[in-house]
Amino acid sequence: MADDLSVVNGARVSFARRKEEMDESDEGLIRFLMRDRHGTPFEHNSFRFHIRAPIFVAREWFRHRVGSFNEFSMRYAKATDEFYVPAREDVRSQVGKPGAYSFDPVSDEIAETTREELKAVYDAAYETYERLVELGVARELARCVLPVGAYTEFYWTVNARSLMNFVSLRASETAQREIRRYAEACETFLAEKMPITHAAFVASDRTAP
Ligand SMILES: Cc1cc2nc3c(=O)[nH]c(=O)nc-3n(C[C@H](O)[C@H](O)[C@H](O)COP(=O)(O)OP(=O)(O)OC[C@H]3O[C@@H](n4cnc5c(N)ncnc54)[C@H](O)[C@@H]3O)c2cc1C
Repeated sequence: MADDLSVVNGARVSFARRKEEMDESDEGLIRFLMRDRHGTPFEHNSFRFHIRAPIFVAREWFRHRVGSFNEFSMRYAKATDEFYVPAREDVRSQVGKPGAYSFDPVSDEIAETTREELKAVYDAAYETYERLVELGVARELARCVLPVGAYTEFYWTVNARSLMNFVSLRASETAQREIRRYAEACETFLAEKMPITHAAFVASDRTAP
């Protein structure tokens, strides 16, 4: 539900003008709007994503207030037994100070131990969850035993301006690797649906207008 033309028409209505097709001057207009941070013309469109992500990623995501969310309910439905186990190469150490951490690889042995420990906790947590549900405990309470590595799913509907803000913050080096991958994936849809807007965003050092 998004295209570059919606940006152009959002801006050109100031002069009571409307286009049916993009031309070169419109590409220049988009670049100008991006560069000078005229953000509102980038709001007349929407992207709807259906996301599956661990709860810890979703929590970071939901901090982005400009957009709409609907999420899977662990009150109404039984939790799935799907949990995030990082690939070996994603198990990392954290070195440095807040705001300037670097994340270094760990030995194969530590990576494997981490993965095994996580799986053991996930298995025990899910077993307890199922046991409590079977005893008749409400799902809304039984879910307390599930860790933030459990997967959730949600819809996210957002306009291009807010999506660029999200990408700018979450596809950056400073964002956590796990959400960064989702942000990079979201960015591919921006590039596909709004290629001129995306190119202007990249040319503006990925600063959202
Ligand atoms: C690397 C990183 C580390 C982070 N660490 C922490 C942390 O330790 N603790 C923590 O709590 N959060 C943390 N956050 C979350 C961060 O503070 C923001 O809540 C989150 O990135 C959403 O950004 P946003 O407010 O720009 O987006 P949105 O909420 O989508 O808002 C979009 C824009 O709308 C405007 N806006 C929205 N609401 C208001 C408002 N109430 N008043 C004025 N303007 C508004 C702002 O211009 C804002 O940029 C972190 C984020 C990142 C990327």
